[in-house]
Amino acid sequence: MSVNLQGNTISITDQNTHHLANQMLDTQALPMILQQIHQDVIEEYGKGNVADYIPALAKVNPHQFGMAIRTVDEQEFSIGAADTAFSIQSISKLFTLMLALDIVGDDLWKRVGREPSGMRFNSLVLLDSEGGIPRNPFINAGAMVVTDIIAARSAAPARRIEEFIASLSGNDANRIDQLVAAGEQATGYRNIAIANLLKGMGNLEAEVEQTLDCYFKQCAMTMSCRDLARAIECLANRGRSHFKSSFHGEKMDKRINSLMLTCGLYDAVGNFAYNVGLPAKSGVGGGIVAICPGQYSVAVWAPELDHYGNSVLGQLALEKLTFYTHTSIF
Ligand code: GLU
Repeated sequence: MSVNLQGNTISITDQNTHHLANQMLDTQALPMILQQIHQDVIEEYGKGNVADYIPALAKVNPHQFGMAIRTVDEQEFSIGAADTAFSIQSISKLFTLMLALDIVGDDLWKRVGREPSGMRFNSLVLLDSEGGIPRNPFINAGAMVVTDIIAARSAAPARRIEEFIASLSGNDANRIDQLVAAGEQATGYRNIAIANLLKGMGNLEAEVEQTLDCYFKQCAMTMSCRDLARAIECLANRGRSHFKSSFHGEKMDKRINSLMLTCGLYDAVGNFAYNVGLPAKSGVGGGIVAICPGQYSVAVWAPELDHYGNSVLGQLALEKLTFYTHTSIF
């Protein structure tokens, strides 16, 4: 593949008609590719809506875009608002899963499944009919069980989650936004219902209020694209992180990445896998993180969401990234 900058556009020519899947990332071309992606996606501003279920998210400027890529050999490339902190929301479910697996190992799977749900992320429907075992750790019910594992085994669980995430990114400024957390709590009727149902069906160990408090707070963590790309580096690098030496991530990457591929983008995960071809996790703050195993981690942020709750520009940017670089898991 060759990439040439002509005026403001990149022309990408593929010397082989049948390109090799998952090529090595050409880091020299990456700055130009990121510029091109930025230019392409900002034309799509206005095609979605920012999350508005709490005031702190509703007032975010919708026309923002940032992207950061971190290679396993520690090179970083970024464009736009890559250092602006935003609400990570459901991306936090990835970190609590890592922490809970670190604490209880495979016992976690006695309480949570590993199948896509095909339902909205905050649906209660399957939970009741499937005996209180949530389909996967990325829908809200499953994420609450994962958080409950941490809550039931920690003196200060929200603090533990906050510090675990900050240690993964290497940035101590990554903290819970208390205003966002209070907003989650005040409007979290469906989440409160899910937690009560889980408790009623015997799948919460801690008190409902304690698990919910942690869940609302983890969703309210703020991080930038750069922080996120660093924090998930271990999932691209066989569990190794340059920031957190004590994380036991070996062997976890294959499992967590497969769950992201099948369950990471709500009920739009099939289309995302088709278009992008990378395991990923999104959040309603407009962030999406993705992994190219053995090569790089990437985080993208643009607050306007589609009907499923996924960032419009974020999905497009990742699709263009894998297209321009010929990197995907397929
Ligand atoms: N705090 C949100 C909720 O639990 C997170 C939603 C999301 O990012 O998917 O409803």
